[in-house]
Amino acid sequence: MIMPQDARQNTTTAPERSVIEAAKEAVPVIDLADLLCGPGQMRRIGERWAARCPLPDHDEKTPSFTVYPGDRGWYCYGCLRGGDVVDLGRLAWGLGRADVAAAEVLMSFGHDIPPRPRPWYARQERQRPMRDKVAEVRTEVLMRRLFRFVFEPMLVGIEDADERAASARRMWAEVLPLAARLVEGRRSTG
Ligand SMILES: [Zn+2]
Repeated sequence: MIMPQDARQNTTTAPERSVIEAAKEAVPVIDLADLLCGPGQMRRIGERWAARCPLPDHDEKTPSFTVYPGDRGWYCYGCLRGGDVVDLGRLAWGLGRADVAAAEVLMSFGHDIPPRPRPWYARQERQRPMRDKVAEVRTEVLMRRLFRFVFEPMLVGIEDADERAASARRMWAEVLPLAARLVEGRRSTG
């Protein structure tokens, strides 16, 4: 995305870019895609991942939504939209501003938002006590990663989307205690 260098910069706020760049660095597209599409919905097709489009205004039966390897972005061949992790969050959550979407992406994965004295952030912080949420969010991120690499291959043979979702839900319940133990262990060893 091209951002004009002189866009609303002043002495009290960081450039708009910082929060967007932070989100792009911290959160791989596939992680947000997983969160939006639901467990077991992203399927491996060669080097790519594909799922039914998670954008709210695109209801489809066949998987047109594609995430490219190496964090090279996403594209939906059904609604002809694509971009980076921030674009995905902005469209999925119906947010007008990229910096707001970027902050939401960061918070959704338990990351700090670059310091920026804006009332909007303060409001978000009040709504979501981040410190208490971090372990919970990390557990969920780990669950999704575990699911993608360990359980997803087991779902490969299931072509029916509803049946696949039902199987995914059953497996998902098995991942939770495993991920919680791993996060707990990681925390106690520092
Ligand atoms: Zn779409």
